[in-house]
Amino acid sequence: TIVSAFLSPGVVASEHDLASLHLRRDQSLPVILSTRATNADDEGYAEGVVTNTRFGSYPHSTIIGEPWGSQIRASMVDTGSRGRKSQQSKKRKAEAMGQADNEDGTATKDAVTASSGFVHVLPPTPENWTTSLPHRTQVVYTPDYSYILHRIRARPGSRLIEAGSGSGSFTHAAARAVFDGYAKDEVAAKDDGGSSSAKMPTPTGKVFSYEYHAERHRKVKDEMVSHGLDPIVKAMHRDVYRDGFLLEDEEGSAEKVSPRANAVFLDLPAPWEALPHLTRDTQGGAISALDPQSAVHICTFSPCIEQVQRTVSALRRYDWLDIEMVEVEHRRIEVKREYTSMQYEGMRGVNVFAVDVDEAVAKLRHVERRAKDFHAGSLEADKSTKAKQMQDNGNNNTKLPFDGGRLVHRTEPELKTHTSYLVFAVLPRAWTEEDEAAARAKWSKHV
Ligand code: SAM
Repeated sequence: TIVSAFLSPGVVASEHDLASLHLRRDQSLPVILSTRATNADDEGYAEGVVTNTRFGSYPHSTIIGEPWGSQIRASMVDTGSRGRKSQQSKKRKAEAMGQADNEDGTATKDAVTASSGFVHVLPPTPENWTTSLPHRTQVVYTPDYSYILHRIRARPGSRLIEAGSGSGSFTHAAARAVFDGYAKDEVAAKDDGGSSSAKMPTPTGKVFSYEYHAERHRKVKDEMVSHGLDPIVKAMHRDVYRDGFLLEDEEGSAEKVSPRANAVFLDLPAPWEALPHLTRDTQGGAISALDPQSAVHICTFSPCIEQVQRTVSALRRYDWLDIEMVEVEHRRIEVKREYTSMQYEGMRGVNVFAVDVDEAVAKLRHVERRAKDFHAGSLEADKSTKAKQMQDNGNNNTKLPFDGGRLVHRTEPELKTHTSYLVFAVLPRAWTEEDEAAARAKWSKHV
């Protein structure tokens, strides 16, 4: 399908789809599903490509065709004979590093045959991509980018400038936010086997993503193509401090074209150096990179307060208004019940994003209530199991382990976020004499 799996994944996991194998909380593995061998180790095996994890082996043939969200059981795969040589050397390396296996498909034979388990197969989303993407730089994490996209009013049809592209974490979320759909008939024609040369429908929502590091730019550009987001994201290799944000004319003329941006996100070491290129009044007849018909909302992302100060004074100088700094401070708080009874020792609590302990405890209570209802339901459904459980418990009441237990909580020390200061501002739309006259003419028709 021409619509990216990030935007419209369909119902089932299909061949060539990017899938996220969810191993456990905060750990997922992106894989391109394929039954066809992609390397020499997999060639000649009926099950095709196999992803090996510390929770077992997953031939892609057992995943393809399953509805997204399915639990996939590990398979016993004789990978021992596959690429024995390369596995042996990987095993020696892994042992030298004090680990028996890892998640990039290099599990050793022993790890594969000894482990069994399950994973959930999830469609790709900006959120799970952010947690598993190959880091080439610091990245913007979900709590920050969801707030940023909301504040800069990124919505279907927005035209958003982003610099620099970095590892493409923000880029994926921005692409989803601005995507406004393709014309339905064009999609249908293409999906129904229309010729591959048929014109690619062009969405109006756009992300213009600039990066001056050649290798990082190339990787983001390739990723956009392989993730089906390239009709939405135009990735450019550019030093924006020096060369600004205007686009090369696609027709090949020397004329520059405006991206007509109405939303801007700068994750750069010196945002104030890019700001002279984001004005309405341009010098020497050059065109503006901003949409003249719309207010523009900007956010800059900087780790140090000195960078914030310089950015704020440059924003003032270039007529930006409503300048405000925000720090997104989110913590993950773990709340658990501590049980003295051996029977329930090790029972898990919840680990939630919450503003304070009260909210975290409320979430724990919610999880407990749901677990209690679930267990009560299954006890009801299976009378013989219930009887046996009562027998095993040595009593005949259905008291579940959620009652009692001392509440304990701790805040996770390691935050999976790049804490930075966010500076927001607005540049009002340009308002000329002609705009005023047009507005008056329109108004006079109604009175
Ligand atoms: N927001 C990105 C993400 O979520 O993955 C991370 C951006 S990273 C922190 C900053 C990027 O800005 C780096 O990749 C760097 O090469 C790029 N950069 C720095 N100065 C630049 C400039 N003058 N023009 C374009 N890119 C620049």
